[in-house]
Amino acid sequence: MTSVWPRLEPLLPKVQKPARYIGCEDGAAAKPPDPALVNWCFIYPDAYEIGLPNQGLQILYEIVNERPDGTADRSYAPWGDLEALMRAEGIPLFSVEHHTPGHEFDLLAFNLSAELTYTNLVNCIDLAGVPVRAADRTEGHPLIVAGGHCTYNPEPLADFLDAVVLGDGEEVVGEITELVAAHKGRPGATRASLLLALAGIESVYVPSLYDVTYDGPSVASITPRHPGVPAIVTKRTVADLADWPYPRNQLAPLTEVVHDRLNVEVFRGCTRGCRFCQAGMITRPVRERPADQVRTMVTSGLARTGYDEVTLTSLSTADYSDVSSLVEGIMDDSEAGGGPTVSVSLPSLRVDAFGVAIAAQLQRAKRSGLTFAPEAGTWRMRQVINKLVREEDLYEAVDAAYSQGWQRVKLYFLIGLPSETDEDTLGIARLAANVAEIGKRHNKRASCTASVGGFVPKPFTPFQWFGQNTTAELQRKVNLLKDATRGMKGVTLKWHDPRATLVEGIASRGDRRIGAVIEQVWRNGGTFQEWSEHFDLELWNQSMADHGLSIDDVVHRHRRPDEVLPWEHLSAGLHKDFLWQDWQDALAEVGLPDCRWTPCYDCGACTGYGVEHVVASAVPPAGGSQGTGQDLGTGGAVPVRLLGRRPEAVAG
Ligand code: SF4
Repeated sequence: MTSVWPRLEPLLPKVQKPARYIGCEDGAAAKPPDPALVNWCFIYPDAYEIGLPNQGLQILYEIVNERPDGTADRSYAPWGDLEALMRAEGIPLFSVEHHTPGHEFDLLAFNLSAELTYTNLVNCIDLAGVPVRAADRTEGHPLIVAGGHCTYNPEPLADFLDAVVLGDGEEVVGEITELVAAHKGRPGATRASLLLALAGIESVYVPSLYDVTYDGPSVASITPRHPGVPAIVTKRTVADLADWPYPRNQLAPLTEVVHDRLNVEVFRGCTRGCRFCQAGMITRPVRERPADQVRTMVTSGLARTGYDEVTLTSLSTADYSDVSSLVEGIMDDSEAGGGPTVSVSLPSLRVDAFGVAIAAQLQRAKRSGLTFAPEAGTWRMRQVINKLVREEDLYEAVDAAYSQGWQRVKLYFLIGLPSETDEDTLGIARLAANVAEIGKRHNKRASCTASVGGFVPKPFTPFQWFGQNTTAELQRKVNLLKDATRGMKGVTLKWHDPRATLVEGIASRGDRRIGAVIEQVWRNGGTFQEWSEHFDLELWNQSMADHGLSIDDVVHRHRRPDEVLPWEHLSAGLHKDFLWQDWQDALAEVGLPDCRWTPCYDCGACTGYGVEHVVASAVPPAGGSQGTGQDLGTGGAVPVRLLGRRPEAVAG
């Protein structure tokens, strides 16, 4: 196998940040590609500094490199300056460690975490010297596969992908490696036979093996073309995280990247049931990593990388059983080691699970900002979205934080949620003002940033039927907040561009017809769409119009209850009738409690997979609101639906 390095090296002094393209990270260990083995290239379709820290990619990269039958290298989307030089010199997309041309790998595997990277994915395939459409590929071309949260509706990318992995990849990556290894050695094996065999692996979806028909703006049917191909592809769930202590050797880059610290995943899944949150729905059930394994991973990771900061990652880390003891143990370990006290960050803090105990532990090291996600400005709106945190919880949490020395608190909110009124929107400004005011009681320089994003309805959530707000409506709500926060002392408002939210909506719930739109945007130069300096809404508007597709139909239309959704043939384990009932409860402003602490209501996530929640300690945290229905909200009892098991489960 070849290397592009001799031709690439002379170009690097001419581009920004050449360290993006040289590999050499601490922890990098790609085995040399070997034609006798199965060679993977894992690709994050965005700039190196965004993609390098991606934990999913690093986990699979390590697992494959540990296998005797596989090798794995990595690649990222080259920035425009290098891409122009590569195209001029005829240099294909390459891996960063061995600089192997993309087309020489057996598999190019993309991590899909954000819809706005879809045009970059197409560009990377093309730059690798591979036909962008799966139908145009022949024997000898690599398989183009994808995994990650966005693959729960892969239909907008169906034309470009050979296979899609749903759910946890740790086991599937080995099964695919074995299959491809057997295929490589089999006389007479064809690409078609390989695709058919891939479709036989649990949780692997091969888009070309399904026919899709349409009925106006919606899908009419999705049918497998072959008898052995599953009508419904279900996600893979790794039962016990303790079996997968990866990444063991987190990559420590030579140049600045986002999340530039040690990251250790403490649990997967979430049972809070926030109705807007796709990650929470599709990653159920909860699977916690044992505390002693977390501490070992932190200690060894810090010693190896030299980082003095660790993030304990999950969807809601303060929900980890006895998180306070875990943080205390990590601090003790670092102090016992004689080095500086490690700084521990907990992302996405729930205000009702954060208290003085955690704040006191975290403040033993340097204090960065703290982020909470109340998501909505009024209790009514938080009932609709099932984020059942009380205003008092928020104020107590930020009071604990400011009292322990934090100066900056960031609050995340969504606008454009179902049934949202201007009172709900303006509630965001009111909450932010109150938080800043609490901070100033402790420190005159205390501040609060309210960060506001437009809501994009996602597949496999109760809000998958909701018609997204228009760009004009989202902009009007941003303007309301700009006016309301003007002159507020200590409050800063930040917002996501509503035009980008619109494009995310096209890709989030679009069907296969969106593939042609994505291809045209790419052909017209629309890459790096998640970067504001490159984002171009006009390219998307024009492409939708050229393909006779209506933005109203794809983005703003409420879906009918009986409608075949573009992801109807895929399953995240959740029963469709559970999601529909939860949508009705949302509209009725009825909350649904956390099923860690209440009877199972049979959403499907555990029952369908034979997996129970794996938690270190099944004891509700003291003081937190755990959905009893009596201790939530302002003004007494709150409607909360408490369900037992349903008499029968309906798949889908
Ligand atoms: S199946 Fe039951 S226990 Fe499991 S996530 Fe769903 S509601 Fe919770």
